[in-house]
Amino acid sequence: MDDGILHISIKDVTRGEYKLIYAHPEAFLSSKEGRKILQSSFFREHLCSICIDEAHMIHEWGEEFRKDFSRIQEILGIFPNVPVSLFTATASPSTRDKLVKDLALRDPLQITKNPDRPNIKYIRHERLPSVRQDDDLDEILGDIADGLLEDKEKFPVTIIYSDLETIRYGYRFLEARIGEDCPENRSYAQFHTHYTERMKNWIISDLGKQEPVTRVVLATVALGIGLHAPSVRRVIHFKSPTNIEKYIQETGRAGRDGKPATAILYWNKTDVRSNRPGLQSAMKKFFTSKDICLRAQLLSHLDFTPELQISKCNCCSVCEQYCECSECAK
Ligand SMILES: [Zn+2]
Ligand SMILES: [Zn+2]
Repeated sequence: MDDGILHISIKDVTRGEYKLIYAHPEAFLSSKEGRKILQSSFFREHLCSICIDEAHMIHEWGEEFRKDFSRIQEILGIFPNVPVSLFTATASPSTRDKLVKDLALRDPLQITKNPDRPNIKYIRHERLPSVRQDDDLDEILGDIADGLLEDKEKFPVTIIYSDLETIRYGYRFLEARIGEDCPENRSYAQFHTHYTERMKNWIISDLGKQEPVTRVVLATVALGIGLHAPSVRRVIHFKSPTNIEKYIQETGRAGRDGKPATAILYWNKTDVRSNRPGLQSAMKKFFTSKDICLRAQLLSHLDFTPELQISKCNCCSVCEQYCECSECAK
């Protein structure tokens, strides 16, 4: 193994030594060896199933930065009679239709489950306009710094998603307020593509623990893949994704252990500007709507409605205004 790549003999693969092969699309589509495997007589005769996990990536990534995701159809075309299954936790009816069409699936059986996460409460705050963004950020980060200093290892594990510039700013802000222990001892961390592999791996493994040392991670969307972090209590967005599917995926990293969790969205006019690339109208509505339950908006985009009756104060920042439970009525 070098560069994180495990080298196995292609001959062994094409001879059928491995019964189950996990691969990303590039491994088959952009590599000579991958092509050899697909075209081997053993594969043509014996391949019995193709599974595509996180199928929504075919469009999400295929269109943006990993083109081979949008070429998966080529693999299916080599094996026209092999059954195909797709898995995804977040695909709207239109995304599902698009997948069926783009992959030329014939009359597929669709099995869906309500993606509602009743243990997550959705909170939305409008921020100051971008020209005064720093004042505004400083206030939010200041509260986090105070909380970290006071509650230390009891501070709720929080992921803050934003852009690279804000992440760097936020990290320096916390560093100035909290101190500069060696990175592994800090209660806060940053995570983005340009950060060292060693630190990224350390953060992912730390967050996998029941009681991570890291309580706050400022991250770009690079933090997500391969993340198993059951103890995340809060996901905060300083800059929101442009579409509902991504927002559900990212906020879904809170409360994986089933215990109460919150998803907090800070937005301002810049987030909903009409020329923001890729901004989905449903997402814009999610930011700006006045009186519509936030959970219901997320779910209705995927063609579902909230599954469980939960008290309004545990639902979202819109519903909680109307809660009349015994706690709220006090
Ligand atoms: Zn609600
Ligand atoms: Zn209540």
